[in-house]
Amino acid sequence: MKSALRFLAAPVLVAGLVAGCATQQPFTPPTVVSAAQWGSKPHEFPESYRQTPKMVLIHHAGEMWKAGSDPEQKLRNLQTWGFNEKKWMDVPYHFLISPDGRIFEGRSVDFKPDTNTNFDTTGYINVQLWGNFEEQRVTLAQLKSVVGTTAMLIDRYDMPKDAFTTHKDVAEGQTSCPGKDFHRYIESGLFKQWVEDSLKGKTPAIELLPPLEGGPTEMTPE
Ligand SMILES: [Zn+2]
Repeated sequence: MKSALRFLAAPVLVAGLVAGCATQQPFTPPTVVSAAQWGSKPHEFPESYRQTPKMVLIHHAGEMWKAGSDPEQKLRNLQTWGFNEKKWMDVPYHFLISPDGRIFEGRSVDFKPDTNTNFDTTGYINVQLWGNFEEQRVTLAQLKSVVGTTAMLIDRYDMPKDAFTTHKDVAEGQTSCPGKDFHRYIESGLFKQWVEDSLKGKTPAIELLPPLEGGPTEMTPE
């Protein structure tokens, strides 16, 4: 009896694994430049900043990106400016994405983000794309990286697959962030589809939409 069961169990197990593989490939997270790699030197956060991540919050920088800008230098400058001008403990974002698609780690997700607008930031993971998408177009590389970053965070913190939003959606009437050239990917449902495909282990078919009527028409330089 025992040996007959053992004989039966093996093919059942194999069939189960094969069926599983067909529907769920493992998700591969994108490469991230760590905070230590760009030379981050954050101050110590008070305990009142501690949070549990619950949703990804997407921003643009709102400042034109100039060709040849160095994201690592911009990060170090932003950190120093935050210390001096805002009394922030660190850069206000948890992840930052340059127009060439590189992803940089900012502040620890264990601490809530800072903002210049008025809303409760607790639980948000702030992801910023450099550029001003009211005046410049988001690049394909950036679009791919923000989809990958969002999927990575949803996967890592076991959040619902639609656990993402944008600055203007949580601070209504206070900002146009993350800019009209980016926000349409959220509005159209394309972003949601791409994140879901990524989480299934598929390569999402990410493409730029044609320029909006009335612009912006100029691509952010990489
Ligand atoms: Zn914003």
